[in-house]
Amino acid sequence: MSIIPDDKISEVRERAAIVDVISDYVSLRKSGANFQGLCPFHGEKTPSFNVNPGRGIFHCFGCGVGGNVITFIMKMEGLAFPEAVKFLAKRVGVTIEERPLTAGEKRQTDERELLFKINELAVKFYRRMLVQEPAGEPGRRYLERRDVDAATAEAYRLGFAPDKWDSLTRHLEQQLVPLPLAEKLGLIRRRDGGGYYDSFRNRLLFVIADLHGRPIGFGGRVLDDSLPKYINSPESPVYHKSDVLFGIDLAKQSMREQGTAIVVEGYFDHLALFQSGVRNVVATCGTALTGGHVKLLQRYAPKVYTLFDGDSAGKKATLRSMEIFLEEKYLAHVIELPEGDDPDSFLKKEGTAAFAGQVAKARPIFEFFFSDLLRQIDSSTVEGKVKIIEELAPRLMKIANPIERDLYLKEISRQLGVDVGQLRRKIGRAPISAADLTPTVARKKSGIAPEEMLVSLMGKYPEIVRQVRDYGAANLFGPDLLPVVEAILAQEDPDRGVDWGLIMEQVGSVEERSRLAALFMDDSHLEEIDVNKAFNQCRVSRTRLTLKDRDAKELKRELAQLDSDSARYWEVLKMLDALRNKKSQLL
Ligand SMILES: [Zn+2]
Repeated sequence: MSIIPDDKISEVRERAAIVDVISDYVSLRKSGANFQGLCPFHGEKTPSFNVNPGRGIFHCFGCGVGGNVITFIMKMEGLAFPEAVKFLAKRVGVTIEERPLTAGEKRQTDERELLFKINELAVKFYRRMLVQEPAGEPGRRYLERRDVDAATAEAYRLGFAPDKWDSLTRHLEQQLVPLPLAEKLGLIRRRDGGGYYDSFRNRLLFVIADLHGRPIGFGGRVLDDSLPKYINSPESPVYHKSDVLFGIDLAKQSMREQGTAIVVEGYFDHLALFQSGVRNVVATCGTALTGGHVKLLQRYAPKVYTLFDGDSAGKKATLRSMEIFLEEKYLAHVIELPEGDDPDSFLKKEGTAAFAGQVAKARPIFEFFFSDLLRQIDSSTVEGKVKIIEELAPRLMKIANPIERDLYLKEISRQLGVDVGQLRRKIGRAPISAADLTPTVARKKSGIAPEEMLVSLMGKYPEIVRQVRDYGAANLFGPDLLPVVEAILAQEDPDRGVDWGLIMEQVGSVEERSRLAALFMDDSHLEEIDVNKAFNQCRVSRTRLTLKDRDAKELKRELAQLDSDSARYWEVLKMLDALRNKKSQLL
């Protein structure tokens, strides 16, 4: 809505004590200068999640995640940066003065608030019908027939719309709700001759909620076999189908803990899994999966499973979702059920253990796709092979992981009896190269590099910060850490030391932030270190690297081409000189 001023952001960061904030989510125990607890972002039994209150940062040595109090809230609550700042501001009583809303914006915000309230009224009304009113009897019988227990019904806030034209309309009228707003939400509809009538009648109602559990719409199921089986709320100012997944409010904690999400199609699929203890589930409920849905899931889980019916419609839905997953580079597997089963029927027949077995057997979605093609198209003919490759090629190109891509290439070439080189040319991408592999391998090397050590030392000793500034950060650090060091130098205030919380925000990537949090989490190992020696080590290793980059031979070659009157001649000469000096000092 507007930009939050930097000083407000730092005020929030300073006032929001990181241990207090995180304690709302994690039970922390003091351990030395830090606090420790079980990581909320991955499942673990022994604590590797650390909070350093002095520096205002956290880091998990198990899954590598780390940052400051704002990035913690972003990850935990699934919020974007400004929303996380506002979330914390409210908590610590910092007023963020935003640009005053224009009259139009104010109307919109007020209206949104009202719309949420009206939905909430409807939820309570339908809930009361289902739980205690005589009119809710058919709903209660239906739930009993489907083995939905009371606790589950409560968790979902299930409701029942009585078989009448005006029960909700009348209730809303009594509550003085402006009916045109209820119409906007799709709760009621306008009658031709004037007045309104209920949209949902004689249906069991599922509440569609946003991330924070606020009701934004309803899905209503008939109690028999009549059609339409489901009626869903239309889009409204609070309900955008392409951004919302059913059950995400119930699933977010579990998705985060398990690092996986299961996508199912229907409300009852969701409910069946939930009731049997599988909680990391969301449902699409009649809308096709969108990029928005996938981005939402990626905030919580790095890996996704699809679980659709074992019929051809289910297969189609799986393949459709594959396109989105590939597009968004999301690691996806397919949980398959026997033909004719849906998650509900399967769990009832086979039980939770059997379901876990199906999850363990889940195949990568691309593999599922490939074997489906092989079933459908005759791969023994040239025509068939060409057709299959035409289908595979564009999707294969989208597979993010080069190793995975290459394995598929080999497997496809084996299965189709096509030369792998030809296949590679066809998909227009070179086989994996050493460059594809290096970034991950390089990261794995153990121990702390001198540069990392020096950054840690900068955090501990202000004089090192000064030393680095005097010597020139660019002469000590590579492109990796240089931006961070420059950020430290830019903000260093001798009285206050380094603001690590701020540094965490200035770091671009999540990986880099996590790596730094690990470095700064604990500095007890630095006690033993000879500061000057570390500084020199860093200087030497950097200079060696630069020397490699700027080969003396190259400079000499350039010198030979230059006119001795030109300015560049003297520049190069000076560089050569400097090189000679440096080398003699170093070696
Ligand atoms: Zn962790």
